Amino acid sequence: MTVRMQPFAGQPRANWKPGMIRRDDDVADHHYVCPCGCQNLYYAQHAVQSGSVETGDLTLTPSLHHNGPGHCGWHGWLRDGQFVDA
Ligand SMILES: [Zn+2]
Repeated sequence: MTVRMQPFAGQPRANWKPGMIRRDDDVADHHYVCPCGCQNLYYAQHAVQSGSVETGDLTLTPSLHHNGPGHCGWHGWLRDGQFVDA
């Protein structure tokens, strides 16, 4: 599965789409709507390896793993603006 990231501009939850992402300017971390379709919002304190939300080519490292309590279990990467399964 591959889902392209898209800017997340505070739309109401009913309009969330998989792969929406925004950067939290105060802490430089990211919130994103899970690419798996579960409609959960996740928080990543991951390092920015390259790119940005604005330019649509963000790469975060290490991988994103939704394995905490109540999480959906998705595991994958955000590379060059694409969420891809691990
Ligand atoms: Zn999910």
